[in-house]
Amino acid sequence: MPGLEDLYREIILDHYRSPRNRGELESPPATRVEGFNPLCGDEIVLYVDIDDAGDGPTISDIKIGGQGCSISQSSASMMSSAVKGKTVAEVEDLTTAFKAMMSIHGQDLSEGEGLEESGDTGLDDEDLDEAPEVNLGDLEALRGVVKFPVRIKCATLSWNTLAQGIEEATSS
Ligand code: ZN
Repeated sequence: MPGLEDLYREIILDHYRSPRNRGELESPPATRVEGFNPLCGDEIVLYVDIDDAGDGPTISDIKIGGQGCSISQSSASMMSSAVKGKTVAEVEDLTTAFKAMMSIHGQDLSEGEGLEESGDTGLDDEDLDEAPEVNLGDLEALRGVVKFPVRIKCATLSWNTLAQGIEEATSS
């Protein structure tokens, strides 16, 4: 019987080989933003449509382009399926929960290796303590990435890019 790590690897590879919501949206009306992770060379081009469907601003459509390592691209694919159809408020909870999972918070930091590159998840300790209980679904498969601090930015790139897109889309 395959272990959890094998299952997680399968999920990551599945999203990498068959990325969800791959493509472009016409912009405008969609908002187009780019994200770049210079540590690894990952690029994300994100298109997002936000409409007010009655429950507040909602991600009505999202498309992802770009290229990079399997972690960054599979994370972008999982993110896109997780947020599509969700309200911006729900997406913020999901983002906080995902970043909490990706955080080195609470782990043994005594070796101190890679801290400078890994600590920047954009959350302070208080945010992490208040991380909402959210079902992360396939995103759980990225849990193992936290063991490789240099890869954390690969996993969080698409989320940071989405946050930027939401900000641009809702501020105009
Ligand atoms: Zn990467």
